[in-house]
Amino acid sequence: MTTFKDLGLKSEIIKALNDLGYEKPTEIQEKAIPQVIASDQDLKAFAQTGTGKTAAFSLPILEKINLDNQSVQAIILSPTRELAIQIARNIEEFSTHLKGFKVAAVYGGSDINGQIRKLNKGVQIVVGTPGRTVDLIKRRKLHLDNVEWLVLDEADEMLNMGFKDELDQVLEVTPETKQTLLFSATFPKEVDRIARNYMHNPAQIDAGKRNSGSDNVTHEYYVVTDRNRYPALKRIADINPDIYGIIFCRTRRETQEVADKLIQDGYSADSLHGELSQAQRDIVMQKFRKKTLQILVATDVAARGLDVDSLTHVINYKLPDQIESYTHRSGRTGRAGSKGISIAIVSPGERRKLSPIERIIGK
Ligand code: AMP
Repeated sequence: MTTFKDLGLKSEIIKALNDLGYEKPTEIQEKAIPQVIASDQDLKAFAQTGTGKTAAFSLPILEKINLDNQSVQAIILSPTRELAIQIARNIEEFSTHLKGFKVAAVYGGSDINGQIRKLNKGVQIVVGTPGRTVDLIKRRKLHLDNVEWLVLDEADEMLNMGFKDELDQVLEVTPETKQTLLFSATFPKEVDRIARNYMHNPAQIDAGKRNSGSDNVTHEYYVVTDRNRYPALKRIADINPDIYGIIFCRTRRETQEVADKLIQDGYSADSLHGELSQAQRDIVMQKFRKKTLQILVATDVAARGLDVDSLTHVINYKLPDQIESYTHRSGRTGRAGSKGISIAIVSPGERRKLSPIERIIGK
């Protein structure tokens, strides 16, 4: 069995991993950590959420970072505020025994001055959402001239969310000599463009089959007429009284409607979508994380970055337009070794959408 020590990490980091209860590296960690420690070569990694990719890029950077130097040495870009906070929190946990190390998360929808104050104190790693990162660069509060590592986490999602220009801007102001690490669950054209334009002869790591669903996830579908979609959803909730899951809808309005009906019908449910204020979203997410809420009805974008490992079910109230979104959705369950079920409710007309999905997930 490979251990974290075998991968070349120092004792302070191993100690933190022990504290966290990480016993052995995941596949992506086993592949990425020694590669990044040993080589400055750029890296393209295929990895889905839940595979341990945060540690896969953070640990080798922490291993090599200069603790005597207070300037920003690594910038990690992530698609959502929640994911940025989560990554920074993980890095804090990994670095508890590294004296002199500091990390900051910068993201929109939150007071910029507090973030500037934190940057002014000197941090070695910044985790940011693309918009706020560019804003801080333009205000000359975030200096990336000494950056040695640039991580693009969930690159496909950042591009899906329209952050192409921001990524270009950050890539432009970071030194040519940096090492770029790009993590993505899928590789559509736009991600390839970034890789082609900004990466030099990248090494490639594939953790598990490309685009494939996790082996821990069982996939089910139910065919019902449109009129029976909501009653079918209720039945699914009824036969799974211990459900702890996310119901994915396609629009904000649909999300709100389904959540309202479930609440009215007495289920422990709430909605998460972009029309809620950040404060409202925080409250809902906190209730869901603490499991005082069993069912979260959400849009794809709003659910990104909600880091919960023990989901029993992911339900596609309606199938997404893009197949990649299906693998992202179902990848929210069956994480960290537990089993999960991904359910799709489909109308007879939507059945044709199933075979491309079956082909991609191989199930
Ligand atoms: P990530 O893909 O980085 O979001 O990680 C998914 C979850 O797995 C997180 O809750 C991590 O804390 C956890 N995790 C990551 N690596 C390991 C490991 N080697 N052993 C146990 N848990 C891990």
